[in-house]
Amino acid sequence: MGNLSILSNQTHLNAYCPHCQTSLNVKGKEEEYLKLIAVYNGKEFQLKLNPTLNIYDTELNPQLKNGDVLSDIFCPYCKKSLVVEDKKCESCGEKVAKITIATEKKMLPFYICTTYGCEWHGLSLGDEKKLLPKIPRQPMPEQDKELRAHNFNEVPYGLTSEAAIIEAERCIQCTNPRCVQGCPVNINIPAFIKLIKERKFDEAAKKIKEKNVLPAVCGRVCPQEDQCEEVCVVGIKDKPVAIGNLERFAADYERNMNLVKAPFIAEKLDKKIAVVGSGPAGLTCAADLIQLGYSVTIFEALHEAGGVLVYGIPEFRLPKEIVKFEIDYLKKLGCEIKTNYVIGRIKTIDDLLKEYDAVFIGVGAGLPRFMNIPGENLNYIFSANEYLTRINLMKSYKFPEYDTPLPHGKKVLVIGGGNVAMDSARSALRTGAKEVTIVYRRSKAELPARKDEVHHAEAEGIKFQLLTNPLEYIGDKNNWVTGAKCIRMELGEPDSSGRRRPVPIPGSEFIIDCDMVIVAIGTGPNPLLFATTPGMERNERGYIKVNPDTLETTKEFVYAGGDIVTGSATVIKAMGAGRKAAKAIHEKLSKK
Ligand code: FAD
Ligand code: SF4
Repeated sequence: MGNLSILSNQTHLNAYCPHCQTSLNVKGKEEEYLKLIAVYNGKEFQLKLNPTLNIYDTELNPQLKNGDVLSDIFCPYCKKSLVVEDKKCESCGEKVAKITIATEKKMLPFYICTTYGCEWHGLSLGDEKKLLPKIPRQPMPEQDKELRAHNFNEVPYGLTSEAAIIEAERCIQCTNPRCVQGCPVNINIPAFIKLIKERKFDEAAKKIKEKNVLPAVCGRVCPQEDQCEEVCVVGIKDKPVAIGNLERFAADYERNMNLVKAPFIAEKLDKKIAVVGSGPAGLTCAADLIQLGYSVTIFEALHEAGGVLVYGIPEFRLPKEIVKFEIDYLKKLGCEIKTNYVIGRIKTIDDLLKEYDAVFIGVGAGLPRFMNIPGENLNYIFSANEYLTRINLMKSYKFPEYDTPLPHGKKVLVIGGGNVAMDSARSALRTGAKEVTIVYRRSKAELPARKDEVHHAEAEGIKFQLLTNPLEYIGDKNNWVTGAKCIRMELGEPDSSGRRRPVPIPGSEFIIDCDMVIVAIGTGPNPLLFATTPGMERNERGYIKVNPDTLETTKEFVYAGGDIVTGSATVIKAMGAGRKAAKAIHEKLSKK
């Protein structure tokens, strides 16, 4: 009999005799234990078991040593033997005694081997799971909300290894894991969580990287609540397993411990690929093609690579050193990155096709949209793109250390309800605004931003004017914005997106005072590449038209993916597109 390590410290078992149904739990002076009678060498004695059934009484009389086999174990109340004929210990082959244990909902048979020191306990894995106590979802430690509203340091600190292991225990290792189907790049989620549970943290990171080259980024910014975590079965009755936090934990551990290793790179091929744009789509496509042996050059219009990860998402959500680490890693693999290089100006796609065997376009959807309402040209009305680029890429929040003036509003309105609006509002707060208000035309339930980000914004003191839409901006005699005339909205019938259409309430106009406005109502495709690439067609939404299976555009050997094909989407979807295109490019060039 021995150490039931799986149940160790997990649960306090209520045990019963299967014959008389009497409880075997006994309250002693200082402890609770299970009482049974055992027979060894013809002598009866009391067998005391710890109620977790993992520690056997050491004060046995007679003293037993490992390997000694008890001839009988019986119930102290009805005196019937608990030893059963139809089952043997699967570890040592000796006979076993049966008791019944109670879970929350039903009674389960539980077998104890009669060999002292034997590890076998005869409880199926499925039944064992029923015994596991409910572990609450481990909260993510965060920077204090008063402090963080005045700095750009990252808000969540990340899970400790202890919390990560406890969180990993919550995963019940489904045989048909719905979380994997919910993940746009099909990461083997139960496998990496199991590795965390086994303390194999860097192996967990490598398991994630089989499908996702930027886990530290995705662990921070992916909308897991709408993807893997939304379908996690634990989430049916409880909060889902914190898959995103665990992904971030494994990736951070690997990076912080210097355990990142270069992947296998196939033999160098005599083929060159040009990647236009260095956002998640371009970076993933480049990483995959390099590993397949291609020479890859990335052309990036800005002075730093990373796309929205560097110019859009603020430091307090995604520290730039993480993006830089990933880009440096790609360079180490041999990828050339040419920054300050606008394709469509310095060279066209046709120029690239003369030098390269294929081109992948991942230029994102960076053209800001405005509402085209009166007064939108007043001073201190910014597009979120410009505002966030100044802050993140140009580091205006570190002015004068960085030579970019920072727009300082005291009463700031942010128009829109997505991640971009939350990032703009929280950045404005951190750069000295006294009051920041998000103006959104639908209700809170329809806010497209990640729930975590809405929660963070609210906690930091951002105000929300919901079911409200601006009609025009009002300015002073010097054309500086001083207010927004808005109208109240109500929700009507669902529109093509499935969300209820906001309808203005006549006569409900009112004015909100402000001295700065940030417009975050979405973006569209930049026309430059369409204007300079004959034969590359647009889809019905105005983005690049591609074959959905290969992501090849209407121009042969030119592929495209990410926001420039789908419109503004997510980091992981852009990465998925980069990977799909890399595979298709490889297949096509291999045939050629
Ligand atoms: P991008 O990341 O836009 O990268 C395109 C790159 O191409 C840019 O670097 C650009 O400078 C370059 N480029 C453009 N034109 C040219 C040219 N002619 N020549 C050379 N280079 C060019 N998604 C999430 O999943 N979670 C979030 O929390 C989240 N928050 C966001 C917050 C903000 C503020 C923004 C703007 C977006 C956010 N997103 C978020 C969306 C996500 O970042 C995008 O869906 C994703 O970055 C798209 O990747 P991409 O590679 O297609 O393009
Ligand atoms: Fe684990 Fe949830 Fe995935 Fe099941 S669905 S394997 S519980 S993370």
